[in-house]
Amino acid sequence: MNEPPDRFYRIGNHLATDFVNTVYDPEHPAGSLRSAKDVIAFLVATGSIDAAAATELRRALSDGSVAKRWFERALTLRGAITESLIALEARRALPQAALGHMNDVLRAAAGYESLVSRTPTAYDLQFVFVTADPAAALAPVARAAAELLANSRSRVRKCANPECVRHFVDDSRTGRRRWCEMAVCGNRAKVTAFLERKRSTTAKRTSTVDKRT
Ligand SMILES: [Zn+2]
Repeated sequence: MNEPPDRFYRIGNHLATDFVNTVYDPEHPAGSLRSAKDVIAFLVATGSIDAAAATELRRALSDGSVAKRWFERALTLRGAITESLIALEARRALPQAALGHMNDVLRAAAGYESLVSRTPTAYDLQFVFVTADPAAALAPVARAAAELLANSRSRVRKCANPECVRHFVDDSRTGRRRWCEMAVCGNRAKVTAFLERKRSTTAKRTSTVDKRT
């Protein structure tokens, strides 16, 4: 298997599914988010926050207990998005508690857009946060999930391997993607199907032999 461009396996095709998929890491039973530091690394790797915001966030989380609470909040958000995707895939209503968690994070990122001058003749549209709540840094993930749940419902899927926990957004032309990664789950399923076919052929052959004797 090729090395991923960063240590997160971004096969979900979408920020929300990639975040959900951090629950799985082939090398760690606890997944790839094991501390606040890991969550910041994920946010930076996915371009959800820039380097300056990451530095500010690290400062805001320099107190261990604050960092621990923030990390737990990130995991709660991940659980809420996961439950919501599972409900969506099963065409069930989203769980109320999960909706509440996602909306809480979105609320933490409340702010407004402001036109600020960069040079005497050039202007930037900047988003200004009205709170200093570090949960705001998780808002890009919550927003991505909210957009997915609102707009791209039909293409959200769980990997067809029943033992796999990863989800993805199918953006293939045919819309028939079944596996998180062909190399991981697709090939395994093909090998199982092959062995089952072989076993049933062998069984048939054996029963033919049995009849003859
Ligand atoms: Zn899979």
